[in-house]
Amino acid sequence: MVREIRKIGDPVLRRKARKVEKISKETQKLLDDMLETMRARNGVGLAAPQVGVLQRALVVEIEANEKIAGSGVTYALINPEIVRRSQESWTDQEGCLSIPGWRGEVERPWSVVVKALDRQGKRIRLEAEGWVARVLQHEIDHLEGVLFIDKLIAPDRLWRVEEGKEEETAQEMVLPTP
Ligand code: ZN
Repeated sequence: MVREIRKIGDPVLRRKARKVEKISKETQKLLDDMLETMRARNGVGLAAPQVGVLQRALVVEIEANEKIAGSGVTYALINPEIVRRSQESWTDQEGCLSIPGWRGEVERPWSVVVKALDRQGKRIRLEAEGWVARVLQHEIDHLEGVLFIDKLIAPDRLWRVEEGKEEETAQEMVLPTP
């Protein structure tokens, strides 16, 4: 089931998500719905607070692409935790399904090691670098109520990427300077 994506201005996006204590059928349904919702919007990642659920769960799916190291993956993670970050960092553009029509430049560690539980509650550990690591970090930030616009390398590194009606919440964001 495709769920409604919460947009910037919705307070749920700014709250800290709770740890999942027990993986129930409901948790698995949540992950399935999140994957379906993300795919319906052509996203590469989605965190539970973005569908209004304050639980530590996220999905990431990056289609196979020979230019993207570690691509061709689908993750559904519960209680994900970054246990190691590289000192080396890099800057690239990010967007967010909760902030439609905007992209911005964010600096993040190049690689991370993430520990989490999978859909069945089995402990897993993943190492990711580059774009896949960036998406994982972006989604884990959502579980803390942090959005990419909080981490722009400079206030003017945010811009519109498509024509359309102005988002009703746009005034809450840092506007690009001309
Ligand atoms: Zn996002």
